[in-house]
Amino acid sequence: MRKKIVAGNWKMNKTFDDAYELVEKIADEMEHLATPSVDVVVCPPYPFLEMCGDLSQESFFAVGAQDVSAHESGAYTGEVAAPMLASMGIDYCIVGHSERRAYHNESNEEIADKVKQLLANDIRPIFCCGEKLPEREAGTQFKVVEKQISESLFGLTADEFGDVVIAYEPVWAIGTGKTATPQQAQEMHAFIRSLIAKQYGSHVADNATLLYGGSCNAKNAKELFANPDVDGGLIGGASLKADDFLTIVQSF
Ligand code: PEP
Repeated sequence: MRKKIVAGNWKMNKTFDDAYELVEKIADEMEHLATPSVDVVVCPPYPFLEMCGDLSQESFFAVGAQDVSAHESGAYTGEVAAPMLASMGIDYCIVGHSERRAYHNESNEEIADKVKQLLANDIRPIFCCGEKLPEREAGTQFKVVEKQISESLFGLTADEFGDVVIAYEPVWAIGTGKTATPQQAQEMHAFIRSLIAKQYGSHVADNATLLYGGSCNAKNAKELFANPDVDGGLIGGASLKADDFLTIVQSF
């Protein structure tokens, strides 16, 4: 049975005190929630990883980073390497988010290198893919997503691929309040699963966790997660409020 996951991407939000308050509330509530079948992941900015890791110890959530360097170590000022994250006990890391692709010109090849760095350090990549609005309007969304996935992930062995989580995040839905319909999400998730089956076989595809991201919130999560190929969500804005995030965690 594949894992269900709800991951919160805080992006570049919160000061230390605000972050502490938010994650403390999540930690307190998580102890009372009966959601053993859902893995909950909190992805704060780098400076708050250690604090979130400390608060997660007694609780039932994992901590993820929002990005990682494509390099192992060296003269890359401002970057953070996978071995550093591993040495802090970080479990997950988002890679290929559309904001990184757009503002930092990340290519599929660079993202492939980041994925490899993470896997070499036992950190599960949450690999983001998704089409922009003009691409959906032109009907090319499947081609776009296939290229992103095949160029960044299909160089992995089946074993390596087994640790990757894929987040389908249509760019037109991120932070816009314009959520994909449950049908649009299901259609793309089924397509992604079929790509994985073609590459690695149906066993690997059946076990792959596929998240939906893009204006998923406390009101629409249930309907999105009810789809057979939607195994949870990558949540941006709604992960910044503990009550909303925890409602989403319980939306299966
Ligand atoms: C995201 O940034 O990964 C995301 C899904 O954002 P939002 O939920 O705010 O659309």
